[in-house]
Order: sequence, then C-alpha cells, then structure tokens
Amino acid sequence: MQALPIVGHLIGGEIITPDGRTQNVYNPATGKAEKSVLLADQRTVEAAIASAQAAFPAWRNTPPLKRARVMSNLKQLLEQHADEICRLITAEHGKVLSDAMGELQRGIENIEYASYAPQLLKGEHSRNVGPAIDSWSEMQALGVVAGVTPFNFPAMVPLWMWPLAVACGNTFVLKPSERDPSSTLLIARLALQAGLPPGVLNVVNGGKEAVDVLLADTRVQALSFVGSTPIAQYVYATGSAHGKRIQALGGAKNHAVVMPDADIAQAVSAVMGAAYGSCGERCMAIPLLVAVGDATADAVIALLKEEISKMRVGPGTDSGNDMGPLVTRQHYDKVCGYVAQGVAEGATLVVDGRNVAAQPGYENGYYLGACLFDRVKPGMKIYQDEIFGPVLGVVRAQSLQEAMDMIDAHEYGNGTCIFTRDGEAARYFTDNIQVGMVGVNVPLPVPVAYHSFGGWKRSLFGDLGAYGPDGVRFYTRRKTITQRWPSAGVREGAAFSFPSAQ
Ligand code: NAD
Repeated sequence: MQALPIVGHLIGGEIITPDGRTQNVYNPATGKAEKSVLLADQRTVEAAIASAQAAFPAWRNTPPLKRARVMSNLKQLLEQHADEICRLITAEHGKVLSDAMGELQRGIENIEYASYAPQLLKGEHSRNVGPAIDSWSEMQALGVVAGVTPFNFPAMVPLWMWPLAVACGNTFVLKPSERDPSSTLLIARLALQAGLPPGVLNVVNGGKEAVDVLLADTRVQALSFVGSTPIAQYVYATGSAHGKRIQALGGAKNHAVVMPDADIAQAVSAVMGAAYGSCGERCMAIPLLVAVGDATADAVIALLKEEISKMRVGPGTDSGNDMGPLVTRQHYDKVCGYVAQGVAEGATLVVDGRNVAAQPGYENGYYLGACLFDRVKPGMKIYQDEIFGPVLGVVRAQSLQEAMDMIDAHEYGNGTCIFTRDGEAARYFTDNIQVGMVGVNVPLPVPVAYHSFGGWKRSLFGDLGAYGPDGVRFYTRRKTITQRWPSAGVREGAAFSFPSAQ
C-alpha cells in the first residue's frame, strides 16, 4: 500500500516532518484517507514557540507600515491562489467550492483590516497634563501569542487571528484543526512568500497534546481559541490559571424568529441558506426557527418542504450541488443519532435526509440530506444541543415575548435574527435580546472585519471578541508614559503631595 502524503509543521520558515504520531485526513466526499497529518508533541511545539520568541524583537521593531505592506502582498497572493486554497478546503472539509470561496473572501477582509496597522496602533497623546508634562498611551505588542482553530472554517478563522496579531507586532504559533489542515498551511506558506520573516508565523499541527503545551508554556503571552464550548471552557480556565490572556469562542444554537407580518418567502429562503449552507457546520448557522403563531409555522413548514425538495446534495467540487458531505464519518453518525433522538423525543420529522441517494462514485462519502423537524420544544436534546449538521427544527411560539424568553433561557448566545416588517418589534428585539450578534431580516449577522465577532453567555469565554477593534485590544498591551524634561524652574526639590494638574 502506498504511504499517504504527510502534512507537516511550519517552524522558522521551514516545513518540517519529524517522526511521530499521525492521523489520517479524509476526503469526506469519497470517504477515502488522502493524507496523514503529523500530531505535534511537546518538543515540536516548544521549537515553534522558541522560533516565535527569537523572531519577536526584530518584528516588534519593524515599522508598522512595513508590517502592513506584508499584509497587502498577502491579500494579492491569496487572490491569485484562491482556486488552489478553496480546492484544499473542499477536499478536506467537504463544503461546496462557492462556499469555500466565501469563507476565503471573509478571511481576506481581515487581512485588509490588519493592513491598517499604522492607523490602528497610533495610540493617544495628551499635551500638558501638568505644567510642561506630556502623557501618552502606546499599544505595545505582547510577544508570542497563539491561536487554536476549529475544522469548520480552516481558512477564515485562522485569518481572524494571526494577521492582526502579527500586524500589531506579535509573533504567532497557530494550531489549526487536525481534520482539515492543508489550506491553513498553504496560506501560512504564502505569508512567507508575501514577506513575513521566518519565525513570525509558525504552524504546528496536532490535537490536545499540542494545545496543552501552548496553554502552559510561560513564553506564550496570550491565546485565541475558537471551537466547541466544552473545549473553550477548558482552554479559558487552563490558560487563565497559567496567567495568560485568553479569548475562547465556543459553540452556538442560533434561533431565527419569524413574525406573522414577515415576508415569509423571503424569510424561508434566507433561513434555507443559514440552516443548510455548509451542512449546518457553522457557528452562525440557524438550526432553530421560532415561528410566532401557528399560521406562520404552517406556512413556513410548507415552503421549507418545497425548497428542500429542490436541494442537491453531493460532492462539493460539483457546482450544481447546494450541500456537500459532513466532515467525518464520526460526525455523520453523531448527527444521524440526533435525528433519531428527535423522533424519539416526540418532535415531528417532516423531512428525513438520512435516505439521501449518493451520486455514483461517491457512495462512501458522508452525505446527509436536509432534515426538518416541526414541533421542537425547549427541553428536547435536539433543541438544547449544538448538532452542527443539516437539521432545522421549527419551534412554535404564540408571541414575540415567548420567543425571546426561549432564546434568553438558552445556554448559548452567539447569533440570532428576526424576520419582520414591524420596526418597533425589531427594535424591541435588538435592544433586549441576550445574544451578541443580532440580525434584522439578515439570517447570518456575522460582523464585518472592522467590527468584532463575539457571542454572549457560553458562546464566548473572555471579555473581548475576535478581530476588528477587539482584536487590536486583545493583541496589544497599553503602556502609558508620563514625561517631563525638567528645566531650572522645576528643579525645586521634592514634593510630597499627590501630583495633580494644579
Ligand atoms: P473542537 O472544540 O473539537 O476543536 C477545536 C480545536 O480544539 C481544534 O484545533 C482541536 O484540535 C482542539 N482540541 C480538541 N480537543 C481538545 C482538547 N481536549 N484539549 C485541547 N484542545 C482540543 O471544535 P471543532 O469540532 O473543530 O469545531 C466546531 C465547533 O467550533 C462548534 O462547536 C462551533 O460552534 C465552534 N465554532 C465557534 C465559532 C465562534 O466564533 N464562536 C466559530 C467556528 C466554530
């Protein structure tokens, strides 16, 4: 049997493939193992941290404008290599190519934001805070910072993190998902080509063992995590106990509220993309639709059934398909288990995607068609848990307040949205709902790169969101300097009262 190609690590500007544990990387469209990814051990992660530590002094002192130029070069390179990057995403994640392109584009927007580093790092200055005394605040780089990312956006989520961190003068160790590592690694190699000095960005592949080294090593100053809530909570607690600055973004269960006065056809077509796009493997997906009033629910269900019947499921490389496979066999089994559980819990399975026919040549892929439940209720596991698959549940509520109470009671608070024509209802909803990112007639209210991304409740541990202005705050430390240059007039001896402007 021929050995699988190895996915290695990027340390000090070189791809390295030391001996050690590996894990297969599958193509979910075919179910075939196509690569083998190295799982970094302590020594490898420590080598990456040492490389980032060595690169820090010179990079910290590189003018922000020069750092920003690397970002501008990288943007161009990513655009030139977009096709290759997206094919790698689809080959390992499974999402359709157009969706991979969308994720890459959102990632590139974060690089554009990072290329404003000279402006973002200007700080604040006050002249004459006392007689002939000036004071200013600088935003200094932290040093070595790390990022740990999930499988569902192998290009975009790493790009939420490291471009802004390095544009702010830090050096970085990235630990991508071991399930789909190749596009992340290609982007890091392109960053070197764009002019990022060796050691400024290092990539170690692996799992828990690698993450634990990053959480404990005293040279790592801060760590950004995106993944599931149990791991986010663990990363936040462990990293904080080691004295690090941590932001840990977790899971979600986002509700879309459809009001009786909404344009139902528009709401349904928006929710279709948000529920089933990328097979529901998005932290901003809509797995729950709360219909206000039974007439609204009946109309929504009828239209959803019709739309689902038009969907095509198959390999993501075929542009005629709307939905690709789930990421792994284990995840497929888990999602199917939730569908069975929903039936057992008493929800009505209106559309069962488990019997979707495989396209010829793809019989071993992890395909699950769109599933639709009606009469989902709080308390059911399919209501409570993040399923992360193409399973949409319709919940019936009798009023907007009842819908909002359900959303507020849920453990997650990542995203939500309301479909309505009533401005007053929309304002009441956006003003009061206990969720971090809210849409009005917008199903996926993912903030653009110059805002910041962050959920509430158990969707985010830490107090700063990802990217945008919060990202700059997270990756810098404020230092405030107060300065005077004594002249003869102020050499008057010691003063013992607390200094004030006088
Ligand atoms: P995951 O939690 O399994 O893995 C995320 C990262 O943590 C990976 O790099 C993985 O190697 C590492 N990891 C796994 N187990 C670990 C352990 N025991 N200790 C330390 N590190 C460990 O998540 P996933 O399945 O890759 O991604 C899907 C999840 O990510 C979903 O819950 C989704 O909602 C969430 N997500 C959240 C956001 C957000 O912005 N809030 C964005 C994307 C994805």
